[in-house]
Formats: sequence, structure tokens, C-alpha cells
Amino acid sequence: MKGVVTLSKISIKTLQHGAIGLDRDALIAGGKMTVNNKDKKRDWYMCPSFTYVIDHPDGKILFDASMYRGWQDEWPKEWQETSDYTGTTDEEFFESRLKQLNLDPSDFKYVFLSHLHTDHAGNARLFAGTDAKILVHEEELKGVANLEADGKNAWNFFLSSDYSVSRLKYTPLYGDQEILKGIRSISLPGHTWGTMGLMVELEHSGTIILSSDSLYVADSYETGMGSMLDLDRDKWRTSVNKLKLLQKGHDAMIIPGHDHNVIHHNCSCHPLKEEKKLRVWPDAQYD
Ligand SMILES: [Zn+2]
Repeated sequence: MKGVVTLSKISIKTLQHGAIGLDRDALIAGGKMTVNNKDKKRDWYMCPSFTYVIDHPDGKILFDASMYRGWQDEWPKEWQETSDYTGTTDEEFFESRLKQLNLDPSDFKYVFLSHLHTDHAGNARLFAGTDAKILVHEEELKGVANLEADGKNAWNFFLSSDYSVSRLKYTPLYGDQEILKGIRSISLPGHTWGTMGLMVELEHSGTIILSSDSLYVADSYETGMGSMLDLDRDKWRTSVNKLKLLQKGHDAMIIPGHDHNVIHHNCSCHPLKEEKKLRVWPDAQYD
């Protein structure tokens, strides 16, 4: 029947793009980066970088755009001293993963950017010249516009070469709204001005929330500890509470921004109840 979308036609593939090494204390507890402090015993956390390809009868959505292949040419020196992405192999970069899926940027209807940190928006530029609409929260667009007005081309993991790309078709989002049938944006500010997640209804996997960095790692869910990059801690805590309400209300699984551990479904009746690790393509997908 025309106009009816069946959940059985929606699926999510997780693509992994290597990992970024960061100081775990700074990451979870929000402490200061202490890379140059030789006395401090550091616990390096390798933050996996993910994007998600969502297949929907009305078009493909890409959730986030990972790190740009030429990051070393663009990142300021200070960033390269405190974060390490050199372990990522050629085949793990976003462009390679797309090719492995036989996909091209022109195949996407929407590119949903949860926020504009460089490890989430790095490859948005590949969609310049395509018909893909780039979905970003209006507060995020305002935030980076203010950085540019202040002459900041690189600040706190924001890089103007990621988002100031001519011919990118930005479509601002204003909060919680339906993108396609069964797929809704969720406003989760705090990590950045306009961080968003996406809630997807699937036939077998149930409700899945891609939280991006509103929940950096699964541990933050119960400990109430944020990440070093959160712009507004109070808003961040409110957003985590919103995630908790949504998780309960929809018996949802939450997939954090940089973790292989997920917040699993609550109900013991759910077939995925015991599944606590993220499914990563090509081994498995969510449908
Ligand atoms: Zn971020």
C-alpha cells in the first residue's frame, strides 16, 4: 500500500572507523588533560569512532560523518599532542567503509550530524555537490557561526574546514521531530550547544537510540559523570535524564557515542535483553 512504511524495511549498520586515544580521567571525570604531566599515571582510553547507515524505504540516512582522512594536515598541534588517531588503518576511514558497502555520498537523502565536533562532522564535506540534506540543530549552527565571527577556525574540537563547506545543504532542526516514519531526532544539548540523538523503531531490535556524545560512554549513564568536552554540565545532566525517561518509556536500547557497551533494553521480555555489546558491520546489523 502506498504511503505505508513497515518497520521490517528499516535497518541500522554500525560502521567503525578506528579509535581515538584519549586520557580516560579527562574523558570521564572532566579533569584537565595532563599529557605533559610526567608524574601522572595515565589510563589511555581508545574511543572507537562510529557512523551509522540507516536504510529506510524513503531514503538512506547517514548518522554522523567521523574523522576526515586528512586530519593530520588540519588539526592544530595542541590537539595532536593530546589525542591520537594514528592507529586507524586506511580501510577503516569513512570513505573506505562506504566503498566496502558499495555506497557513494550521492546515495544518501540525509546526513544527520549529531553535533559538529571534528570526529563527528569530519567527512560532511564529501556531501558537497550531492542532494543530501545535512541535518544539524539550529543551536549548533549558531554556535559555530559565533566561533567564526570571533575568528576561531579551530577551537575545542571544532574545525571550520568541517562545517564551513560551500554547497553543503544545511537543514536546521529545532528539537524533537520526525525525520522519516519511525525515525525521530532527539534534542540532547549540553555536550555541545545543539547535540542531538536519533530514535529509530525497528521490527526485531525494538527502539534504538543513537545518543552520540550526549552519552560519551555507557559508564556515564549511571555515574552521572560527563566528558571533558561538555560545554554545559547542567544541560548535559538534564539530557541524560531525558535519555533515561525515553529508555524507560520505549524500552529502548541506547548506543553511546564512543563505546562498544550499550545500555540494553530493560524489559526481560525483550529478545535483545542480554545483548550488551554493540553490533558492528559486517558481522551484524540491527533490523
Ligand atoms: Zn563530541
